[in-house]
Amino acid sequence: MIDLSRMRDVRADREKRIATCHGGATWLDFDTATQAHGLVTPGGVVGSTGVTGLTLGGGIGHLTAQYGLTCDNLIAAELVTPAGENVRASDDQNPELLWGLRGGGGNFGVVARAEFRLHPLERVVGGRLEYEGEGVAEALRLFRELAIDGPRELSMQAQLTTNASLAPQLVVVPCYTGEGEDPEVLRPLRTVPGLVNDGVRRQGFLEQQRIFDPGYGVDRNYWKGHFVAELPDRLIDDLIGRMTAINRPPGGILIESLHGAPKDVDPVSAALGYRDAAFNVSDNR
Ligand SMILES: Cc1cc2nc3c(=O)[nH]c(=O)nc-3n(C[C@H](O)[C@H](O)[C@H](O)COP(=O)(O)OP(=O)(O)OC[C@H]3O[C@@H](n4cnc5c(N)ncnc54)[C@H](O)[C@@H]3O)c2cc1C
Repeated sequence: MIDLSRMRDVRADREKRIATCHGGATWLDFDTATQAHGLVTPGGVVGSTGVTGLTLGGGIGHLTAQYGLTCDNLIAAELVTPAGENVRASDDQNPELLWGLRGGGGNFGVVARAEFRLHPLERVVGGRLEYEGEGVAEALRLFRELAIDGPRELSMQAQLTTNASLAPQLVVVPCYTGEGEDPEVLRPLRTVPGLVNDGVRRQGFLEQQRIFDPGYGVDRNYWKGHFVAELPDRLIDDLIGRMTAINRPPGGILIESLHGAPKDVDPVSAALGYRDAAFNVSDNR
């Protein structure tokens, strides 16, 4: 075990729009440092998660549709290899190693430092939309349609759970970075029957990053991802049926959309294996 938790420095270069991040930094460290300059990299949605491990696995979050996967924004890294050598991976030096780090996991050495492309962003329209009962299935279908046809200014995740009486519950978390306080594209989700709480508003990106905190950041579970090419009605009905049939809260199914920017990136630029998928359906049962 190599503990990097004291190597957490993150520096943002506002001019070059590059962040340099040490191997043990978390997303809370990263977002705090980069938002001080009004800049972001698309990362994970829970502040306690490590930047490097998440990047090496791909990285899906609130800005995936806008700016791509986290690994697509990795532009260089410094590694210590198993032989004890210091190696730099970038487009110019060891490019095949950079390819491997983009989605190939923690197999190539210890990443001591990583460099990320930054994008200007301070405020988003985001928050939680909560649904219960019969409206859950319709809201989940709307979520699917929006993910397929929606603009790339909109990233979205949906979390399916049950309440204390084992009825289905759905939380949809949009993150919209276009113009306006009340985007038209979100209206259907904000008016569908079954909506019991609308927490969507214009807010700072750091607030958006706290939506799932502490949530599954504290209640750690064994999550399993399933990348699917589509989310047909039958799968939606099955997911809701299984959630209620298992009869064992808490727990949940997280559905992350992979539309937008990830599809712009040339697949040969990364070792990542799931770029073509439409959704990641993760469960922690
Ligand atoms: C609470 C929680 C929330 C999550 N949210 C998201 C999310 O929003 N989006 C998403 O895409 N994924 C998410 N995940 C999954 C996450 O991507 C993986 O769990 C990821 O492995 C976390 O990285 P870590 O560094 O924290 O974990 P670790 O378990 O420490 O590392 C994972 C792997 O990466 C390797 N590794 C870590 N650091 C380095 C390094 N510096 N150099 C070389 N190898 C290294 C480790 O050896 C291990 O093989 C979440 C996981 C949790 C537990």
